[in-house]
Amino acid sequence: MLALAHAARDSAAMDGDLRHDWTRGEVATLFALSFNDLLFQAQSLHRKYFNPGEVQISTLLSIKTGGCPEDCAYCPQSARYDTGVKAEKLMALDSVLKEAEAAKARGASRFCMGAAWREPKDRDLDAVCGMVEGVKKLGLETCATLGMLTGDQARRLKNAGLDFYNHNLDSSPDFYGDIITTRTYEERLETLAHVRSAGIHVCCGGIIGMGESEDDRAGLIATLACLDPHPESVPINALVRVAGTPLAEEPPVDAIDFVRTIAVARITMPKSMVRLSAGREEMSDETQALCFLAGANSIFYGPKLLTTPNPDSDRDQTLMARLGLKPMAL
Ligand code: SF4
Repeated sequence: MLALAHAARDSAAMDGDLRHDWTRGEVATLFALSFNDLLFQAQSLHRKYFNPGEVQISTLLSIKTGGCPEDCAYCPQSARYDTGVKAEKLMALDSVLKEAEAAKARGASRFCMGAAWREPKDRDLDAVCGMVEGVKKLGLETCATLGMLTGDQARRLKNAGLDFYNHNLDSSPDFYGDIITTRTYEERLETLAHVRSAGIHVCCGGIIGMGESEDDRAGLIATLACLDPHPESVPINALVRVAGTPLAEEPPVDAIDFVRTIAVARITMPKSMVRLSAGREEMSDETQALCFLAGANSIFYGPKLLTTPNPDSDRDQTLMARLGLKPMAL
């Protein structure tokens, strides 16, 4: 039965759902569809590739908080901004494993470890590899986000058992320079290529609400959808406006615009997990429900997303029960 389902999915993909040649203009045309048409298309594709009643749950732990030398304008962990986030040392292995066990008990199937580095030093990577091995032994999928990687570092993480590496593009190539000046878009793409060549799944998305234009949003999605293969996970974040960061005074993201972005990501990357990520805390239950209807099928779960708040587990469980959604099994 499962083989038949996979065969049906693959033949559907051959029919042209899976493309890697999206132009910004085509993506902009999707954004401009009527809301109902856009959601219908997104939900129809979603049902072709996924069980619409399931949501994959990931938990994100900051294993090394603050003090980052980069200047990402949205980030409270940059040492350049006065946000009240204190620089901490890399967490100890046993503390990380305790958090991973607790995440598993709450229903998480994937455990993501985030470190506020420009790039990991080799001795730090030894420690992270130990964490990956330990989390993997608990029966969880493993994910890390550690900044830029060399090819060799990516291979070491793969050998330790890393399943996913998160490295976001954040924005369109054109808007990127307004947000980050300490590393280039090309360097991001290079890290993604190292991750891919090492055989690690890619988790890569962006942030909405940083002052970008509609055309920039189309540019971000087009860039992601032209990666071949598509990132297996596509986190779509709504900017969390943290006091002290340069983007603290940006207006909040319009909920309908956010849902549209989720839907366009689903249509252009139909087999990827589209993750409703940062910014959920500020979203109403109704907005989140529309995001699920638009094809989001993954969330971060737990009280904190690195250093910014996330809805508490009770609110998530209640919402999932109201919507009839179940955690996706591994
Ligand atoms: S987003 Fe990552 S790289 Fe950028 S400042 Fe924050 S921790 Fe550093």
